Amino acid sequence: MPRPPVSGHLAIDLLRAEFTDRLLETAHLEAQLPRTRRQLAFTLLFCSLYFLCFFATDVAALGIVPDTALLLGARLLVAACAWSCAWLVWRRRPGVKASRLAATVAESVALGCFMVIALHRPGEFHWHAMSLAIMLLVIYLFIPNRLATALAIAAAATAVFLGLTLAYAGMDFADLLTMCMLLALVNTFGALAARRYQLATREEYRARLVLEDAAERDWLTGCHNRRCLHDVLLDTAQARGHAGQPLSVILCDIDHFKRINDSHGHGAGDAVLVDFSKLLQAVAREGVDSVIRYGGEEFLLVLPGTSLSAGVQLAEWLRQRCAAMPVQGHADGATIYTTASFGVASCADGDTPLLELIDAADKLMYTAKRNGRDRVESLLLAAPLPKAA
Ligand code: GH3
Ligand code: MG
Ligand code: MG
Repeated sequence: MPRPPVSGHLAIDLLRAEFTDRLLETAHLEAQLPRTRRQLAFTLLFCSLYFLCFFATDVAALGIVPDTALLLGARLLVAACAWSCAWLVWRRRPGVKASRLAATVAESVALGCFMVIALHRPGEFHWHAMSLAIMLLVIYLFIPNRLATALAIAAAATAVFLGLTLAYAGMDFADLLTMCMLLALVNTFGALAARRYQLATREEYRARLVLEDAAERDWLTGCHNRRCLHDVLLDTAQARGHAGQPLSVILCDIDHFKRINDSHGHGAGDAVLVDFSKLLQAVAREGVDSVIRYGGEEFLLVLPGTSLSAGVQLAEWLRQRCAAMPVQGHADGATIYTTASFGVASCADGDTPLLELIDAADKLMYTAKRNGRDRVESLLLAAPLPKAA
């Protein structure tokens, strides 16, 4: 199904680094999801292995004592949690919310166990601060999550760590101040870099949407173009007209359009095209019908689930509205009236290929021209014969 037009809903909230439009934000996150899952699973696996390896420093610091077993237990808990989350994300392919939850749970468990380990090695808070700084950078930059969530987790972990330092480390004021400032620096740069990354992915997504829209739409009228018909619609419209549903197409062409250009100028011709296309777009059901600028002043309507009689009724209504519609011819100030000829082709069960229907509607439209213009010609196409076994 062709996309709806890209309009003014593309704004990005620079503070939250998210699209202001919730639906667009969700669409962006869904589009990113395969990459997010890979990134999350890999980072959790990689980081938890490192976290486990650092057990060597527990042994070096404490020797083999009962506390060492406790610290090993804490590190194993982190690894088990991270691996379970990585496995779930990799194998179960969860949605955006569940992936973010997995990231948040793994981050919280890792930071909680880190505090326990730090408490059992109170003489090394300088080193713990360095480890925490690295963990915070991983949370900001490598584990995909919402910027606000990463910020909240990192800020909470920093506050808890500084509280533990004050209570248990016995550091002098200069060391404590330096630690506070370094952690503040890590949080500031981490949050800024994460925001920059989140903004960059959204700007890239927005640029892609705008380019795809420009490639699939006619600049003057905003209707879909022939490229969209061939690249998108031919693949999907057939599917939408399936399962015994009728499918109709209407091909319409403005009568003596060249005369409008010749008498009133191309600007007036453009105005007629724009107003005529608006008439067609107004009757198209959103997400169901498609309006395509098929040629210069030729437009195609693809109407899944529409029978021949309903298609003819619609074409007749459009014909009358077109004939009665005044268009202001900008340059010379003239009011222009015009008519159009319509060809309607339908199949009762959606089995006829769309291209065949368009071909038939094209011929019918030329029949309408030959029969005097400003009229509707129609035909119900017979279902194709079943292939011989
Ligand atoms: P008929 O009733 O047989 O359809 O005659 P017609 O004059 O409508 O058809 P013809 O094919 O002779 O002329 C179509 C004209 O449409 C020729 C072309 O210059 C003009 N045209 C095509 N695209 C545009 C456009 O984007 N803007 C304007 N202003 N004119 C266009
Ligand atoms: Mg014409
Ligand atoms: Mg024409």
